Amino acid sequence: MTLPRRDYRAVIVGGGVVGLYTAHHLARAGAGPVLVVDRGYLSSGASGRNGGGVRQQWETRATVRLAREAVEAYRRFGRDFGFNIWFRQSGYLFLAETPAELGRLRAVHDLVRSEGLPSEILDPDGVAAHLDGIAPNATIGGTYLGSDGTLFPFPAIWGLYEAVRSAGVDVALGVEAVGVDVANGRVAGVRTSDGPVAAPVVVNAAGGWSGDFSRRAGLEVPNVATRHEILATEPLKPFLDPMVVRVSDGLYFSQTMRGELVGGLTLPHPPGTSAGMPSSPRFLGAMASALVRLLPRLASVGVLRAWSGFYDDTPDGLPVLGEDPRLPGFVHANGFGGHGFMLAPATSRRVARVVLGEPTDLDPAEFSPARFLGPTPRVAAERLQLG
Ligand SMILES: Cc1cc2nc3c(=O)[nH]c(=O)nc-3n(C[C@H](O)[C@H](O)[C@H](O)COP(=O)(O)OP(=O)(O)OC[C@H]3O[C@@H](n4cnc5c(N)ncnc54)[C@H](O)[C@@H]3O)c2cc1C
Repeated sequence: MTLPRRDYRAVIVGGGVVGLYTAHHLARAGAGPVLVVDRGYLSSGASGRNGGGVRQQWETRATVRLAREAVEAYRRFGRDFGFNIWFRQSGYLFLAETPAELGRLRAVHDLVRSEGLPSEILDPDGVAAHLDGIAPNATIGGTYLGSDGTLFPFPAIWGLYEAVRSAGVDVALGVEAVGVDVANGRVAGVRTSDGPVAAPVVVNAAGGWSGDFSRRAGLEVPNVATRHEILATEPLKPFLDPMVVRVSDGLYFSQTMRGELVGGLTLPHPPGTSAGMPSSPRFLGAMASALVRLLPRLASVGVLRAWSGFYDDTPDGLPVLGEDPRLPGFVHANGFGGHGFMLAPATSRRVARVVLGEPTDLDPAEFSPARFLGPTPRVAAERLQLG
């Protein structure tokens, strides 16, 4: 593709949910010409490979607030973008097997309730009321929040893509950002596979490849890409409302409106993107045992397909949002781990303000890239990296 122009107010690297939502907020703010480049196709990154879970149960207050704002945005998505993303607020059910896990969930519950969200603590009978067919003694209790839910990622990406293009944003698919031009100590443009582009700001929304792109700009960052596998079963008669998440092994699954169970679990893979995005027999075995241990009647259910994608992990489990103090004009919108879809509407609104030089309510100690640079201790960590 040949880029339609050579100078922009901002270039966004990555056309996933984070890049497109940021472009949307910039267009709404009347930012001027904005370019989104993606070297792949629409939804080729994690935004087209995820479980569609959207939850507000978190260990840090800031994340609860961002997720709550995102839930409101997804509730309005049909009205705002004219696309049905099948957002169903049918709850998230967290399961504990040990008193320590239940204690951890109780702390989350207290925090979430202190934010005005009606989280519930459940005993095993309360869990069974949400999870028909659960094995005896499979849990000692859990938490549930009914306004959490799931959505279908593809129409969300499609809707954002159509919206930003109608608002005048240029979206160049199949175009790679290969480097950053610097003049007078700040960003002056982006070098792409389609030639150079002048811009005072570049937003790194490259998901699992964000660390690679930061390094292309000469910036060392602690982001690590980790591969996560996921599968979909054959369709089953509807029996499950909430997204279910087990604390011990990170098992998560929900039932889509087509009847398939979609889910995964935490299985370590070597860090980095070099192995690509295959799926493995090891995952299929581990996932099958984990599911059947919880719901024995799923033992004979067939798997339709399996795939994988990259989480973009940070040392403290919080995303990196804001301008890099080492290179003015280089703005991070990355490090979302396994939860960027559910945070993107809220974080992107703030990142757009950063691009425009406007203040935000983001606490730099929690979100700024500077938190990894100096000896200053980090103040918060988000460890509920499950489901
Ligand atoms: C298996 C799995 C399950 C998940 N489940 C959930 C869930 O239930 N809920 C949830 O909220 N989140 C979930 N996530 C995480 C979520 O999908 C991601 O956090 C989110 O999609 C990240 O969006 P993004 O736009 O930052 O990145 P991506 O969607 O990965 O987009 C980044 C884009 O950048 C492009 N790119 C990279 N480098 C360059 C370059 N140099 N030049 C040009 N383009 C480049 C890539 O081609 C890619 O399209 C899951 C992720 C996985 C893998």
